[in-house]
Amino acid sequence: METRRGFFGWARNMLAVGGVVRSSAEAAGRTSERGPDYYDKLGVTKIINAAGTYTILTASTMPPVVQAAVAQAAKHPVRLLELQDAAGRYLAKRLQCEAAMVTAGAASALTLGTAACMTLGRAGAPDLLPDRLNGVKNEVLIQKAHRYGYDHAIRNCGAHFIEVETLDDYERAFTEKTVMAHFFNAAEHGEINREDWIRVAHEHNVPCFNDAAADVPPISNLWKYTQMGFDLVTFSGGKGIRGPQNAGLLLGRKDLIAAAAQNNSPFDETVGRGMKVAKEQIVGMVAAVDWFVDQSEETMQKEFQARAERISATVRNIPTLTCRTVVPPLANQVPHLLIKYDQSKVKISPQEVLMKLRQGTPSIELNPATGSKQGSAGIPTDEQTVVVGVWMLEPGEDLIVAKRLREVLAAAI
Ligand SMILES: *Cc1c(COP(=O)(O)O)cnc(C)c1O
Repeated sequence: METRRGFFGWARNMLAVGGVVRSSAEAAGRTSERGPDYYDKLGVTKIINAAGTYTILTASTMPPVVQAAVAQAAKHPVRLLELQDAAGRYLAKRLQCEAAMVTAGAASALTLGTAACMTLGRAGAPDLLPDRLNGVKNEVLIQKAHRYGYDHAIRNCGAHFIEVETLDDYERAFTEKTVMAHFFNAAEHGEINREDWIRVAHEHNVPCFNDAAADVPPISNLWKYTQMGFDLVTFSGGKGIRGPQNAGLLLGRKDLIAAAAQNNSPFDETVGRGMKVAKEQIVGMVAAVDWFVDQSEETMQKEFQARAERISATVRNIPTLTCRTVVPPLANQVPHLLIKYDQSKVKISPQEVLMKLRQGTPSIELNPATGSKQGSAGIPTDEQTVVVGVWMLEPGEDLIVAKRLREVLAAAI
């Protein structure tokens, strides 16, 4: 108990240093006027997220204004279809596209967008997906290098992929059954660019989907890809936008968004019935977009850079250690801190550093690219490098991460 109190007292000071003072009841994890802390009640460890917007780490936290909007929404029942519709119209206006809807995450948007392409203009078709297609078109074109872990969200509709590599392959791949052309925005390989991908699909009257789930900031990406001509674009709600983790955006053509809505909850005989988004999350998603669009790109990036620099200033005097920040080119386009040192002098591997921070108090999660052989998601790492993702840290937590890193590294000298 003593160490626990000691830690929280210390953490509170650190948070105060970082410019945010929390109420002492909150900092101590006690029951506050808002009710019990269920993480404490359940014995679930609260972590410091020095990794990034990873689903397995519950991705982002909602800014206070978004949390408040969620709490407000919880107080009143409304008519769900009216809320879905109003949220969609509001988002379309804010994000400069024809139409929009809130989905249960980007993966859900992939399923609903594919279902929209498959069922467009055919009454009763949503009920045929995924296993009674009966003439419903189901070939989705994709570049071989764009195959990824989210394929299943598209296959859920009963669609299957036709892979292409060259522009020539692509032009010849269209058949009577082609229903959609899919693009993975952050793909690191693939020789067909976005403009050609859209142009050729449109020559065949086939809609194009762009999965840009993790690709904000920059904020302007929220309208860049729809304006480029993609018929459907998705962004995850709980990553850079910092909305509810189980929400996302599907943006695009009015007729396709309307068709996607027909494949979604609350309608029963649909692939989307299990993808319900509650009123609290619909409102939270809209509030998060309001919050995010009003941020200054420059201020955000400067803040992330400053966190990286505070951490590097704390660890820099460890012998042989060097720090640099890198900004991945597409997904998670924010400064990440890369810490490298000579393991013959500092005798601990990056993987061991990661484990020690995880097992410490408070428990800290470093970026999973730490110590990874060939880098990951645009982060150029190697077996000698510790990666700190600073953008999901709460104010003041950078100093806690810095102190723990220094302790663990200094102990290995
Ligand atoms: C995270 C991610 C998704 C899934 O997003 P959710 O909002 O968690 O459903 C889909 N595609 C890509 C490329 C992603 O990075």
